[in-house]
Formats: sequence, C-alpha cells, structure tokens
Amino acid sequence: MPRVENAGPSVDDWARSTGGPSSTFDLCDDCRGLLLMHPGRYFKELPPYGEGGEPEGEYGYVGEVAHPNYDSAHYVCAKCGKKLTEERDG
Ligand SMILES: [Zn+2]
Repeated sequence: MPRVENAGPSVDDWARSTGGPSSTFDLCDDCRGLLLMHPGRYFKELPPYGEGGEPEGEYGYVGEVAHPNYDSAHYVCAKCGKKLTEERDG
C-alpha cells in the first residue's frame, strides 16, 4: 500500500505557514491504481483536505513516499477505508 504525496505551490505555502510536515495520504492498491490513471482525482474527496485542513495540491499525483509499517498500527485507505497491510504493499 502506498503513501502518496500531495504537492504543489499551495501545499508549500501551507507547510511554510504552519511549520507542518509534508502532506501525504495512504491508499490501497485499487485506489492507487485509479489515482495513477487520473492524477488529482481524489483530492477534493480526501481528508484532510476539507475545511481548515491541508490544501489540495495542484500537481496531483507526484509519487510515493516512505511510510511506517502498516501492520504496526491501524492504517486504512483514505479513500475507501480498507485496512492496509504490509503484505499488500505495492
Ligand atoms: Zn482504497
């Protein structure tokens, strides 16, 4: 399961202004596959991009970043809610 990076000028501004970490979200393989075909597809639907949250990155899908072992805690797909596991890490 990948952790996908949310990126773009608005995200950079947000990170600078809040001193916050990078903006990422975790997806299952199925949802990642759809995102690869249509970059930016989910951004409006995904937490934490709602009111007061992180901004929607203008660049859409920009790649995947390192993540903690998904078996060590309860991680779920940000789109569909499916539990993520290391075994299915794609
Ligand atoms: Zn999913």
